Amino acid sequence: LIQVCLPLNSLGFVFRQARDAVVNAERMFRLLDERPEIADPATPADLRLERGEVRFEHVDFGYEPGRQILRDVSFSIAPGGTVAVVGGSGSGKSTLARLLFRFYDVSAGRISIDGQDLRDVPQRSLRAAIGIVPQDTILFNDTIAYNIAYGRPGASLDEVVEVARAAHVHDFITSLPEQYDTPVGERGVKLSGGEKQRIAIARAMLKNPPIMIFDEATSALDTRAERAIQDELDRLAQERTTLIIAHRLSTIVDADEILVLEHGRVVERGTHGALLRQAGVYAQMWQLQRQERELEQTEQSLAAPE
Ligand code: ATP
Repeated sequence: LIQVCLPLNSLGFVFRQARDAVVNAERMFRLLDERPEIADPATPADLRLERGEVRFEHVDFGYEPGRQILRDVSFSIAPGGTVAVVGGSGSGKSTLARLLFRFYDVSAGRISIDGQDLRDVPQRSLRAAIGIVPQDTILFNDTIAYNIAYGRPGASLDEVVEVARAAHVHDFITSLPEQYDTPVGERGVKLSGGEKQRIAIARAMLKNPPIMIFDEATSALDTRAERAIQDELDRLAQERTTLIIAHRLSTIVDADEILVLEHGRVVERGTHGALLRQAGVYAQMWQLQRQERELEQTEQSLAAPE
């Protein structure tokens, strides 16, 4: 059961930490398999994936009684489509992703994939269908190869190298002293935010799930690195049903639908163009981020004149 290098007495710590971020979800499932309060049905039949349609129907949710976090949230992601969620800090964006991974159960309403309620299928088959590129990837204290192969245990080194190339992290890895055998994690070589994100992308490519969740980093990488990573994320999203928890609106202009959350409620929804025309919350956010981008570009061109 314990396949990562963690002493037993840190399990409680990992468990608590894992509740706080979708990122840690995969790690925890590996350790504990499942949370006791999230039960499999008595006679579970595996999730039958057809086209990968995701539906939230009138979902209410709170982590604790008396404090509702999501209120009557409904949306659907068409097979291969993309829905993006934006909103202020604490508005409930990441909570949506955690519910889709069935890290918690809804308190009212229902979430389904291809018409099957998440509560009716074994957690294992649900989680096999969903890949996550988290805000901040946690690496295991193991080699880079292990950390990528974690997307599909048993993958060969050739397969690992192939996805590392596709995620544009192969050249970086081969520049390290022990290449794919280089230890990373807390006790190994430290990687930058962008490098870790690329490892997460490679891992997700190897897992090759029909449904993807991107939890965008709040702290922006520098603009050039960000654009390169964005291209890879776009590729990963193609042909897959994708939920994006977005912080930078520039990355989601092509989404099929954008939901604006405020205090757990959808207050605006539509395509980028339609939301701009509404001249509401989203349009304001867009203006603000555009000014910030322009300022950043001016600063960059001043810092590095051509
Ligand atoms: P950010 O943009 O800052 O990441 P968010 O919109 O993703 O924010 P969520 O992480 O979904 O916000 O959190 C929504 C609300 O739920 C917050 O008020 C947060 O304090 C609360 N919350 C999140 N996780 C837990 C938890 N494990 N237990 C109790 N409350 C929680």
